[in-house]
Amino acid sequence: MSGSKELAVSDRNDDPLFIAYMRSFEASATHTATCGDCQDGEPCAKGDPLHAEFITLQDTWTQKARAERARP
Ligand SMILES: [Zn+2]
Repeated sequence: MSGSKELAVSDRNDDPLFIAYMRSFEASATHTATCGDCQDGEPCAKGDPLHAEFITLQDTWTQKARAERARP
């Protein structure tokens, strides 16, 4: 069935954790694009919490996605 892939994508887009993860990715990436300190790997006071939140949500999402994949 060709529909199964699309269904998985739409499920993922409805996941509040995935939405939060994508939002924080955008916030972090948008900030880094305009911040020389963060581009140099030395997060500024404004960027640091954005990057920390993104890393936390990325870890949480990765663990959740892994747990779902491990299910039979
Ligand atoms: Zn910065």
